[in-house]
Amino acid sequence: MARTNDTGSACSRQAVDVRNDPRRALPSASQRHHADREIAERKPNVEPEPTAAKRGVGQCSRSDGDDDALDAGRSHPGHEPERNLVRGRLLDRRRRQRRGGVHGATVDVTSLDPVATTSTSILAHLDLDAFFAAVEELEDPSLRDKPLVVGGDPRSRGVVSTANYVARSFGIHSAMSAAEALRRCPHAVFVRPRHVLYRQYSRAVWDTVAQIVPRIERTGIDEGYLDLGTVARDFVRARELASAVQTSVRATTRLTCSLGIGTSKVVCKIASDRRKPGGITVVPAGREARFLAPLAVRLLPGVGPRAEERLRAASVDTIGGLAALGDTELKAILPGSLGKLLRDRARGIDPRALELEGEPVSVSAEDTFARDISEHDVLHAEVRRLAEVVAERLRASGLSGRTVTAKIRYGDFSIRTRSTTLSAAIDDATTIGDVACGLLDRGLRDRPGALRLVGVGVSGLSPYRQLSLEQS
Ligand SMILES: [Mg+2]
Repeated sequence: MARTNDTGSACSRQAVDVRNDPRRALPSASQRHHADREIAERKPNVEPEPTAAKRGVGQCSRSDGDDDALDAGRSHPGHEPERNLVRGRLLDRRRRQRRGGVHGATVDVTSLDPVATTSTSILAHLDLDAFFAAVEELEDPSLRDKPLVVGGDPRSRGVVSTANYVARSFGIHSAMSAAEALRRCPHAVFVRPRHVLYRQYSRAVWDTVAQIVPRIERTGIDEGYLDLGTVARDFVRARELASAVQTSVRATTRLTCSLGIGTSKVVCKIASDRRKPGGITVVPAGREARFLAPLAVRLLPGVGPRAEERLRAASVDTIGGLAALGDTELKAILPGSLGKLLRDRARGIDPRALELEGEPVSVSAEDTFARDISEHDVLHAEVRRLAEVVAERLRASGLSGRTVTAKIRYGDFSIRTRSTTLSAAIDDATTIGDVACGLLDRGLRDRPGALRLVGVGVSGLSPYRQLSLEQS
């Protein structure tokens, strides 16, 4: 009997319909200040930090005329695959949401069943919008309409960490020198980063996201990948889930985030940046290359300043241009494995899987004897007992593994390990015990002696239980 992934069961019960739940309703503008204070009070272990030093002068009269500064390189609307995907049903849903006044607030994911398997990966990249600056605005709402720069001292060698969208309309961006930011906008407000505070907001965000999508790889304080494929069977449902994530993050922290949905990390990462702030961009399977093609080649993760320079020198300005390079041309421009890796990514090919947090690399158990033991039967019995402990831990974590290891320690404290990797992942005690006993015997053949300790471990873990040996 094939056993299937059950990681999505909890989230199927997770409703984020804030429309009918006054506890989760988004606060009105008049309630914001109170809500902001409330969130600060709710944060666990809030360490008092000095109020951010503001060194800017006065207010800037310029309004947020271009809050989409990050989207400068946006492709022609006709090239946006999402436009085709969301036609009809989703557009209708958006209109209904707009009429309801809160974007994305009416998504109910109770109907989203956990999905055992999907033929293609459905991933999302989540990126909080102007995170540090957004937190500072929540902490001090008077900053909301001002050009705000979170970073170092503009009068020394400080660097911009994050600029809010008002400041971005002046051409200020992350990693720019703070002095240059001040030159571009003399009225900007500069505040020092408060990392303890940002971590608290970040934790609240990811706790909320994990309630909807349990499989997450955090790649930074304000970004990470979500495995939507475990909870959404197609891209339409994936988009609904992404919307639910946005709603939940906003309801919990009042922060906004953008998501890119696709089949690979590289596509998702680029997509999440297309409609900032607060956007969702979906790149369905098969549309990856077309989505990427018109974009500037520097937007491709992995293309650094040097690679960009070489590509531009060869008149390769777009990701599509890189994707179209033949082997010989590619070798001349970007020799070595990097060129091939980047060309694959330009074609939307990116086999990197999510690196999940909290999942153990291996599951093992070991026991030290009261006296050194050399009796074969006693050692085998002990190994089988440990195999049962390991199997129980594996099952409790919903994991199985392909590599079994036996560890033996001799009376002189020297340690040997013997491992073998099977063709299928296992999680049952009998099989683990059989394999581990064989490994123990191999170790003792190599070096006979009385043992002080034996251990059994299983690694090469995967979250999906697969057919075990006797079932295949
Ligand atoms: Mg961000």
